[in-house]
Amino acid sequence: MNKNSSNIMALAPNTPNKKETVCIFGTGDFGRALGHKIIQAGYPVVFGSRSTQTSSLIPKDAEVLSHAEAAQKAAIIIMAIQRQHYNFLTPLAEMLHGKVLVDVSNNLKINQYPESNAEYLAQLVPGAKVVKAFNTVSAWALQSGTLDASRQVFVCGDDMGAKQMVMDIVRALGLTPLDQGSLLAAQEIENYPLQLFPMWKFPILLSLGLTTFFFFYCLTRDVIYPYVYENKDFSFFIVISIPNRICPILALILLALVYFPGVLAAIIQLYRGTKYLRFPDWLDKWMLCRKQLGLVALAFASLHVLYTLVIPIRSFVRWRISSQIISQALNNKTEPLNTTNAWLSDSYLALGILGFFLFVLLGITSLPSVSNNVNWREFRFVQSKLGYLTLILCTAHTLVYGGKRFLSPLSYRWYLPNAYMLSLIVPCIVLVVKFVLVFPCLDKPLTRIRQGWERNPQYSE
Ligand code: NAP
Repeated sequence: MNKNSSNIMALAPNTPNKKETVCIFGTGDFGRALGHKIIQAGYPVVFGSRSTQTSSLIPKDAEVLSHAEAAQKAAIIIMAIQRQHYNFLTPLAEMLHGKVLVDVSNNLKINQYPESNAEYLAQLVPGAKVVKAFNTVSAWALQSGTLDASRQVFVCGDDMGAKQMVMDIVRALGLTPLDQGSLLAAQEIENYPLQLFPMWKFPILLSLGLTTFFFFYCLTRDVIYPYVYENKDFSFFIVISIPNRICPILALILLALVYFPGVLAAIIQLYRGTKYLRFPDWLDKWMLCRKQLGLVALAFASLHVLYTLVIPIRSFVRWRISSQIISQALNNKTEPLNTTNAWLSDSYLALGILGFFLFVLLGITSLPSVSNNVNWREFRFVQSKLGYLTLILCTAHTLVYGGKRFLSPLSYRWYLPNAYMLSLIVPCIVLVVKFVLVFPCLDKPLTRIRQGWERNPQYSE
């Protein structure tokens, strides 16, 4: 018994039972939501406001005072106010000397001002220790408790002690502080919430461009041509047939474009004889969005699977099958089984199924929760070796689909080849170049270059 109580006594002096008061300037949406959370974390909160009248919206355990009175009660002040109103702080500058000022503000546009809001705050109140934090967390997420997607709080500032105080509050709220360095990082942190899927821009624009091109290409070949030459109305192809042509074409081209920059980089490194020279900017950017290109490709492949599943219930398909059966019955003649066609059709389907299965596997391993659980070698094995296998299977699926039609003059309408033929250009280039690069006479020097060897070293020892 005695032993137990001495343990409790020993722990008591280190237990932080009273947390320091936190002051929040501004009783707007963000100030109130953050204040509510900070009170829940056990900190006393005092609001600094233009009006000291409290309302039902303000957390009930918080005090509302004038800015000057509130500032005096705390060593840390969170500025839940828009940047354009910061100048009200000028008369308070002396009182704020030595205090920690937390800038949470965001702008409406990327690089809206020459300096970051946090640096502007530091200029307005030169004696204060300014820290940037919380700007990537939204008032709505704080209120609704849906912080799963935004648990990380970027923190930066020039004073280590001040940053530590802010990071302690961040942790007390159940969030994860990420120290981004000095206040110079503030501009970048302020730009984060304004970026609109930066890595997705190129894949999405590219797929929109390719979709438009192939839509009009297929429309010309499959709808306008039969109408002009045979007076047949196939306009309903627009709904399922044409999308089901475009989706596999896009999936294959985009998948090949995931591996294209890798082979280009290998050629450049072999040509230069070093890996220490930077790639051109466009190649760097292309390499950075390979995951997004792959995911868009997987989305098109999945759509292709769905469109294919509905083929047997399409009215046009059922009509075509029944008219073939009726014509055989009328002619009293059964078509013999064409084994070559049966082989081609089964191989085409099998290659498609296997290709799609590996494609899904690639997509799953690119998810952060999965990729974080495999080591570098396993990740490379899946993304590179299985990735190329997927590309080979999907290319073979398309080649077998073409089957005997490749050289048939009937496949060309207005001199335009079938759209799937165009989709084979990029994957075939990638696979042929990759095949050539695997030869030992190229693979060996490339491996040495990637391990740091240089043909003409820039810095001799
Ligand atoms: P808000 O609802 O418009 O509130 C801003 C508060 O600033 C007002 O309630 C007011 O508080 C105070 N204020 C307004 N004009 C003022 C002036 N001329 N002088 C002094 N104080 C003035 O804005 P908010 O959504 O809470 O955003 C506040 C800050 O948090 C902004 O910098 C924003 O970029 C940042 N932020 C917001 C969110 C969000 O989800 N809302 C997320 C991250 C960051 P009093 O009436 O009490 O004086």
